[in-house]
Amino acid sequence: MRIAQWMLSVFVAAWALQGIPLAVDRAAELYDVVILHGRVMDPESNLDAIRNVGISGGKIRAISQKELRGKETIEARGLLVAPGFIDLHQHGQDPKNYEFKARDGVTTSLELEAGTSDVDKWYAERDGKTLINFGVSVGHIPVRMKVMKDPGAWLPTGDAAHREATPEQLKEIDAGIERGLRPRRRTTKCGMFFALLPRRALRCTCISVMQD
Ligand SMILES: [Zn+2]
Repeated sequence: MRIAQWMLSVFVAAWALQGIPLAVDRAAELYDVVILHGRVMDPESNLDAIRNVGISGGKIRAISQKELRGKETIEARGLLVAPGFIDLHQHGQDPKNYEFKARDGVTTSLELEAGTSDVDKWYAERDGKTLINFGVSVGHIPVRMKVMKDPGAWLPTGDAAHREATPEQLKEIDAGIERGLRPRRRTTKCGMFFALLPRRALRCTCISVMQD
């Protein structure tokens, strides 16, 4: 398997690294996957060192200086091994952008600035179809655009930009935002996957995103 020359993005949830003895001797164990010789960076524990990582059952079981054995081995010498990054401000929320994000080490892509006018529809369009985790907020701007029938594709260009909302429209805007804020509990998981490309391979262990 070819691995990206510039970086190995091994995406793991930050929490998965918590509480793991960093130099535990579990060399005899056979892990599902081992990532060897990478520069492991963990902001939670401030670890920044060459380590071997053992993963079984989708969780990190060992981070060790000792050689680990796995059913699958990823050689990460010269590459970075880090928790997946979370992008709070990502407007591009489509398959192509998720692919780019994965290559940048981002495993959770959130549209929390502009948001959307219809949270349920937004999630329904993506559930089960994305490479990485995703999330959105209900946005005042798109709700206002929808209510005022603004022709803008992204930001308002018509009434929503230039005219005061009528009292009725204000009520509709309030209701639209309220709908988007309705308590909900969603989980998106993408599990293990490969995005194989001619010259590189990415491997991701994704995390759950919960939206309340
Ligand atoms: Zn922006």
